Amino acid sequence: TTAMIQRRDALLGPAYRLMYEHPLHIVRGEGAWLIDADGRRFLDVYNNVTSLGHCHPAVSEEICRQVQTLATNTRYLHDTILELAERLLATVPETSLAHLMLTCTGSEANDLAYRIAKMRTGGSGIIVTETAYHGITDAVSQFSPSLGTSVDLGPHVRLIPAPCHYHAEGVDLNERFTQDVEAAIADLQRHGIKPAMLIVDSLFTSDGILPGPAGFLKGAVEAIKRAGGLFIADEVQPGFGRTGEHMWGFQRHGVIPDIVTLGKPMGNGQPIAGLLATADVLKEFGQRSRYFNTFAGNTVSCAAALAVLQTIEREGLIDHARKVGKVLLDGIIELQARHPAIGDVRGAGLFVGVELVADRLTRTPDRWLTSQVVNRMRQQGILLSACAKGHNVLKIRPPLILSEEQAAMVIRALDQALTEAAAARTGQLNPVV
Ligand code: PMP
Repeated sequence: TTAMIQRRDALLGPAYRLMYEHPLHIVRGEGAWLIDADGRRFLDVYNNVTSLGHCHPAVSEEICRQVQTLATNTRYLHDTILELAERLLATVPETSLAHLMLTCTGSEANDLAYRIAKMRTGGSGIIVTETAYHGITDAVSQFSPSLGTSVDLGPHVRLIPAPCHYHAEGVDLNERFTQDVEAAIADLQRHGIKPAMLIVDSLFTSDGILPGPAGFLKGAVEAIKRAGGLFIADEVQPGFGRTGEHMWGFQRHGVIPDIVTLGKPMGNGQPIAGLLATADVLKEFGQRSRYFNTFAGNTVSCAAALAVLQTIEREGLIDHARKVGKVLLDGIIELQARHPAIGDVRGAGLFVGVELVADRLTRTPDRWLTSQVVNRMRQQGILLSACAKGHNVLKIRPPLILSEEQAAMVIRALDQALTEAAAARTGQLNPVV
């Protein structure tokens, strides 16, 4: 492994980061499992790209079939892209989202959404939550505060606090979030900047996984629309059934986006992303701009995405995510009684956040303990990571095909990891890296 790390460091640009101090060398994936070069199996409860499980045969076979038949772009007529658009648009009947545009990455989808929003509104102001991540292009990194000090946020960007239920105890979260958005709008206007959009990841997955209470986005969406801006739902993480309720995360809040951006699990590993938008929002952009993205919407990626949608439906994965997500969430909530480090547990479907604190009353983030738990879970063969401003929320995001037994494995391993991490905290065990 050391030789491989050195070779990698020599060959690849220095901005890449590996997971774990002792990185994994994975050579194969199947279902919820990743297998390393020594044949050790790891339960992957972190990678939400391969949301149907690693190397799902329905997708792999479609990719192979299509790549052996035709790999071209959106300049020719092709049935698959049309069927994909029909199926995606059919998931949002309550909205007036009418068109699909395809990109290769979620970053590109958000970049395109911003271009469209600027043109439609004549504004440039953007409102995002304080630890949000929306992507890596120059424009999008300027509204991705979770990138930290490596990137300067744009002067047209306003940060608002993450809508965290316990930080607003006794407060109506809808009201609080609306007020924060209104204050950001007012501040933009005071600086002569017209608001273009409020963009939220509807599960606030980088802000610490904040799924509820359902409906709390309503006032904020109304506020941005009143100010002439658009509401963009970034569904790169919550989308494609992850919440176990609907296809999209915004649907649990009963709000209507102007643009929905998609990515990650869309091709179960094949690079495909994009956006759904209303006819009204796209009209001027369509008249004034030509949009060709060489690889986006290629026949192979579209075949993969279509297979993903068909598989979610055929295997009843939204329902499954709800059931297994409940087992996982309930099991972790039970651990809370025995582990004082657990400050809060929350989730929707198969996306669970476990907040680890030094003190339950003050909710002081325990970043060190969180990192201990992540590393000790890995020792037990379970892969996950952490998020939030204090880097103290375990991010559990397994494939939608996770079984109840696998959920039980996660709970047992977490129980043990928490016990060991607490012992390491008091010096009874050595810390792990
Ligand atoms: N939006 C969200 C919410 C994301 O989590 C990510 C990726 N982590 C992106 C956008 C960017 O997607 P990509 O990495 O495909 O560019």
